[in-house]
Amino acid sequence: MRKEENFYINNFDYINSVIINNSELIQIKEHIINIFFELTEINIKNNEFILINDPNDSKNIGFPKLIEISEPLIIGTCVLPIKRDWVQFIFQFSHELTHYIIKCYYKKNKFKYLHWFEETICETMSLFVLKKIYENWSSIGLSNTNKDYDNIINNYLNKLLIKNGSDLKKCMNIIDLSNNIENIFINTYLGYKHERPIRNDEINILYNIFIENQNLINILFNYTEYIQDNGLLIDFDIWIKKNNEYKYFLDLVKVIQPDVV
Ligand SMILES: [Zn+2]
Repeated sequence: MRKEENFYINNFDYINSVIINNSELIQIKEHIINIFFELTEINIKNNEFILINDPNDSKNIGFPKLIEISEPLIIGTCVLPIKRDWVQFIFQFSHELTHYIIKCYYKKNKFKYLHWFEETICETMSLFVLKKIYENWSSIGLSNTNKDYDNIINNYLNKLLIKNGSDLKKCMNIIDLSNNIENIFINTYLGYKHERPIRNDEINILYNIFIENQNLINILFNYTEYIQDNGLLIDFDIWIKKNNEYKYFLDLVKVIQPDVV
């Protein structure tokens, strides 16, 4: 049994005790939901999920995490509800909310994953949302009493953006991609502790694409339709063929896919 299944079966009281009730985190949550609402066709406001926050991950679920086997789905974050951790909350919640949005598209499509691609999208979305909140901090009520917090967001974002390196680029062939990237993500997903494969170079590329093409980001949330039969690569040729109007954008995104056969 996966940890999250065990968690869900045994912890209704636990869920109630960690549903977010911190008014500052709720304000940030609402702002993030609005950002996603502007980007996607998904009316998140009408889709239900429960957001819980356990600062210590006391049930050892592996938070932050989207718990998918529950109805409604549960998004779990793992931050202290204090100012110092607001950036962490933005980072974690945006990531898990992206999984949630992709999952909403699953309802229309077959349920499947390409972990390396999905995680890269979710991690990039966190950076994108940090940037959006940094730029619009003065429009959030919290800014009245925390005027300079945008500097903290910007510093946090910049520290993430200067990271580099890529394990994806080291893949020489599809077996490499399977063993050294996708299988590691699958094991992490199943609850085994692993260092996640490094994809900073790809995240940086995708981040710049997102900043320049904000109205097209939502196209990627439907990526599961275009996973190749090998389950390891995206079939960009078919994706572009079916959506020729987005060829320019998909050609840019295609660059992050390792060049393997
Ligand atoms: Zn993730």
